Amino acid sequence: MKSLRDVDLAAACVLLRCELNVAMKDHHVTDYTRIEASRPTFDVLRENGCRIVICSHMGRPWGERDPAKSLRQLIEPIKTVLDTDVQFVDDCIGTERDEAVLALKEGEVLLLENVRYHAEENSNDRDFGKALVRGVDLYVNDAFGNCHRPHASMVAAALAAPERCAGLLLEREIAELSLLNDPEFRPTLAIIGGAKVSGKDGKLFVVKNLLRTVDRVAVVGKLAYYFLLAQGVGVGATLTADTRGIDAPGASLGDDLAACRDVIAEAEGLGKPLLLPRDSVVSVNDADTLVDFASAAVPAEGRALDIGPGTVEELSDAIDASNLVVWNGPAGYFEKPAYQEGTFGIAKTLTSFSGHAVVGGGDTVAAIASVLDGGSDAVHICTGGGAMLTWLMGEPLPGIAALETVLSGTV
Ligand code: ADP
Ligand code: MG
Repeated sequence: MKSLRDVDLAAACVLLRCELNVAMKDHHVTDYTRIEASRPTFDVLRENGCRIVICSHMGRPWGERDPAKSLRQLIEPIKTVLDTDVQFVDDCIGTERDEAVLALKEGEVLLLENVRYHAEENSNDRDFGKALVRGVDLYVNDAFGNCHRPHASMVAAALAAPERCAGLLLEREIAELSLLNDPEFRPTLAIIGGAKVSGKDGKLFVVKNLLRTVDRVAVVGKLAYYFLLAQGVGVGATLTADTRGIDAPGASLGDDLAACRDVIAEAEGLGKPLLLPRDSVVSVNDADTLVDFASAAVPAEGRALDIGPGTVEELSDAIDASNLVVWNGPAGYFEKPAYQEGTFGIAKTLTSFSGHAVVGGGDTVAAIASVLDGGSDAVHICTGGGAMLTWLMGEPLPGIAALETVLSGTV
């Protein structure tokens, strides 16, 4: 895959695919992280006099022109954060867009309307991909968070452009996740939590794959209680009570438990037993109690909503014994302050340990933002949730694969 250093940038006309699917409230951006994250690549392009055409999706309008999902709302935030003038066209393809691209002068910036206003984005339509890069010399992918989706602005557009490369953000994300395969960073520890258990981005499969690549896997969050139940530990109503309804629709508990038993057997076969919660904060009839699994189980009506202090301590020791920690998924129902100690405990240990950490997951990052304060050299905050999970499952990411494709002749 080429990087910005391998391509001719001088005054090039560039389609810059960013991940600007920012959080909004009442038409105002509430979190600027994703715009900020685009800055390093943007600055390099601007220093080289590139004509920059920014393209992104926002939300899930799936072919409808939903004004609430218009990138027009990002004109002012981009102007402020990237310190630039911004032109805008209200369609990402077509005559008006083509003319605006042609008219761009060196260093000028054009923002295109939401690519998901066209259903062809979702179907990775080849002609739509071509139209997205019409008049462009170079396609730059800096949208790591969308690389797991085989969409036209990620794949078809990359393949149709005369030249393609990774932006600095994408390059950094790949480098961080690749540390998992770097012998210098062993021993490695993965901490997987949260509530997406089965389904296509099910963390069960993440745990399964990581067993092969890391030295130790710890399982926390709601996910952990599936493993405990599969081992015969009573978890009461933990799995039946639905906090947010984000478990995969149609997932069967029986299938999930069978999958857990397979993963447990595989872990033992590999000599890497899973690290599971030894204690938990359990809510029983709206009162919280601490349950130690060595001597007790979760009562029938109880819900285990966070890992307990014994587990936090065991995890801290495991973190300190590692050179690399990869963490995805909160340790508890952190939206309620009573159940955030486990998640915060992990985050606090990461801020003081001497190794390197890569942390990702939409909810995980939101939960620990205050503790990790935007990340550091020692703790990298990954900009992609689903993309990170796809990587950790060991599956190819179509957006990255498109950049790696060596094209012969014209497409
Ligand atoms: P991420 O977005 O970081 O990938 P997930 O989406 O998988 O994480 O899971 C986040 C959700 O998991 C949060 O809403 C959190 O409340 C929930 N969660 C974590 N542990 C528990 C638990 N023990 N019981 C109920 N919900 C939990
Ligand atoms: Mg989530």
